[in-house]
Amino acid sequence: MNKTTLLDLSFDELLVVLAELEEPTFRATQIWRAVFKDLASSYAEMTTLSKTLRQRLDEALPWQGASILKTLPSSDHQTTKLLLQLHDKETIEAVVMRYAKRNTVCISTQVGCAMACKFCATGQAGFTRDLTTGEIVDQALVGARLLQDESEHLSNVVFMGMGEPMANYEATLKAIRILNDSRGFSLGARSFTVSTVGIVPGIRWLSDEKLQVNLAVSLHTADEALRSQLVPMNHRYSVAEIVRACRAYVRATHRRVTFEIALIAGVNDSDSHAKQVAEALHGVLCHINIIPFNPIAGSDWRPSPSDRVQAFAHVIESVGYPVTTRHSRGTEIQAGCGQLRAAAPSSKADPASKTKD
Ligand code: SAH
Repeated sequence: MNKTTLLDLSFDELLVVLAELEEPTFRATQIWRAVFKDLASSYAEMTTLSKTLRQRLDEALPWQGASILKTLPSSDHQTTKLLLQLHDKETIEAVVMRYAKRNTVCISTQVGCAMACKFCATGQAGFTRDLTTGEIVDQALVGARLLQDESEHLSNVVFMGMGEPMANYEATLKAIRILNDSRGFSLGARSFTVSTVGIVPGIRWLSDEKLQVNLAVSLHTADEALRSQLVPMNHRYSVAEIVRACRAYVRATHRRVTFEIALIAGVNDSDSHAKQVAEALHGVLCHINIIPFNPIAGSDWRPSPSDRVQAFAHVIESVGYPVTTRHSRGTEIQAGCGQLRAAAPSSKADPASKTKD
């Protein structure tokens, strides 16, 4: 088993480790201030601590932040893709997106993904392993440091990078709680969005957390047969079951759910597909987010033309649902939705061999 690292710990757990090291409790505040407020990236930067203590901490509780292998800015500088290398040399990606009034980091929860969605580059490459809490927390901090260099703040964290957050639920939720803790990074619960392929138990667990985080569900279509083709997980959790879980989620949290729909030309973008979506979501407090499809290698699928996207949106809007069309960021740097696929020289040889049974 891997050693616990600094970023794996909640504040209370850090207190326990410091007590074992016979250090006073104020050290926890000092350390969390350095990590989450000053955005230090190693014990070496914590010059308020003696060198001996820094060494002891490093041994007992390694910091183990990812190394940034590549920083890829888009030509308009609004999006930056980061290729991060973990301690075992696996690579993941995180994306920083700058908007007029907010700065969002899109982070990964797994190395690869086992969901195998047909239209997603990550899904096509297969699953390697779950990320630890520390590795998830670290990505938000890496993003925050990048923004800090531009005198900007991180305002939102979306779990829409590589992996399925509900398939790594505990680590994801613990990372949210750590980043949300007012003694540290103090990012408001409403600033997090967990996006799921539709793992029903995960939606139910999230309903019970009493946390005001946003839930997004990658619906794509309400046609069960078509969805089963696009999203193999639909065989396990159908549209009908997902919608039922979302109704319960709304009842428990009073939060609006976002349904994401990537429109693929000639596949799921007709007016009748739109009507089917509207009917399936009848009475659910929700918002529809249309994502123009980002082409991926090895597939002939193309994004729906913009007039089709508008017509699709119009059908859903006319039933009374709010619709937004996401302009996918960073597609020219392969950082758009579904395009995240670590391609570092160090990544393991055959992606197919990573697929989990
Ligand atoms: N596993 C989670 C989160 C990661 S994917 C989920 O399924 O929600 C983040 C979003 O990007 C999802 O809505 C996903 O369906 C969408 N996506 C994946 N591939 C895409 C592509 N090629 N074009 C547009 N959106 C895509």
